[in-house]
Amino acid sequence: MSSIYLDYQATTPVDPRVLEAMLPFFTEHYGNAQANTYVRGLNASRAVEVSRRKVAIAVKAKPSNIIFTSGATEANNLAILGTASSTSKRHRIVTQSTEHHSVLGPTMSLRDKGYEIAIARVGADGIVDLRHLEKLIDRRTLLVSVMHVNNETGVIQPIAEIAEICRTAGALFHCDCAQVLGKLPINVVTLGVDMATFSAHKAYGPKGIGALYVKDRRRSNLRPVWFGGGHEGGLRPGTLPVPLCVGFGAAAEIAHHEQPAFAQRANDLAGQVWRGILEVEPRARLNGHANQRASGCLSIFFPGAQADALIDGFHGLDISKGSACEASKTRASHVLRAMGFSATRADATIRMSIGRFTTQQDVDKALEIIRKFYDTTDTKRPKS
Ligand code: PMP
Repeated sequence: MSSIYLDYQATTPVDPRVLEAMLPFFTEHYGNAQANTYVRGLNASRAVEVSRRKVAIAVKAKPSNIIFTSGATEANNLAILGTASSTSKRHRIVTQSTEHHSVLGPTMSLRDKGYEIAIARVGADGIVDLRHLEKLIDRRTLLVSVMHVNNETGVIQPIAEIAEICRTAGALFHCDCAQVLGKLPINVVTLGVDMATFSAHKAYGPKGIGALYVKDRRRSNLRPVWFGGGHEGGLRPGTLPVPLCVGFGAAAEIAHHEQPAFAQRANDLAGQVWRGILEVEPRARLNGHANQRASGCLSIFFPGAQADALIDGFHGLDISKGSACEASKTRASHVLRAMGFSATRADATIRMSIGRFTTQQDVDKALEIIRKFYDTTDTKRPKS
């Protein structure tokens, strides 16, 4: 029996429609998109621009605002380090405690370059404390970076409100939207962000490509982090991976069109999973805000259990402890700890997510596996 995949926040399979769109660009239209002296190169370049337009349409940006990168990690690094290499007199960067490490890492590295770093706290529901954030953002603030959807809990941050605070202070606002495409409707203009990060492999596209949306290059004063050819307006050098660009464009287009139907289906299936778990373990608790969460994302605390034992015990389910990027680390999730939960609670938490290819049978089978485990293993129940 093949296992049931319930870790769509870690990554998603490539949609067959996306793969089909990509394939000719490996073997037929393999030209370098920069080579404009022959048809192969021109075809590649055209395909990249069509894909850029598709990504732009999906997030309501202009194609010229989209810079292809190798993924969200690189886009986050470019946004933060690239902004910090500008000549601004502002020397404060503000972020919040449950960010992905590809935001926290580059931000903290700027301490050594003389930047003052401030980190806003979140409430027990995972939502950033807006009053605290507002206090930290002042006229010395160059950049604020707050994610849209958290990759462990699915919690949605109040991005438009944060954008307003940043605008008032004259600070630039970057938002990591890696977990957003296909899960929530997205409009970078009405969100009011200056920069936004996207990743194809979280939205049924290929791994190895993402994008940074930059609203106004002159205002952001963004500098490149790497140097090479003049690709992507000089901001991201390197030969463009045409098949990946095509895949990202196709994935973004599908995600955009199917988002409303997906959200409804994912909420329904995730609701079934959650209710089914409560039947076998009434003490289970969801981590994060009850409603302000992306479709299909569940972070579940199983009191008295060990996440590793549950992962073993729920044999046949592909689930994880938290962020896949931290899976190799033994530290408790920084996201759950920042929400005020104990290391014990963090270590008794499982992340499960419903995706495009999750079926009703998958959910029924998953609940059967969980039920069987609880029926046969008394020791996993907390002692009252
Ligand atoms: N930000 C968030 C919120 C993420 O979930 C991830 C992937 N776990 C990343 C950034 C990094 O994305 P990528 O794998 O595209 O580099």
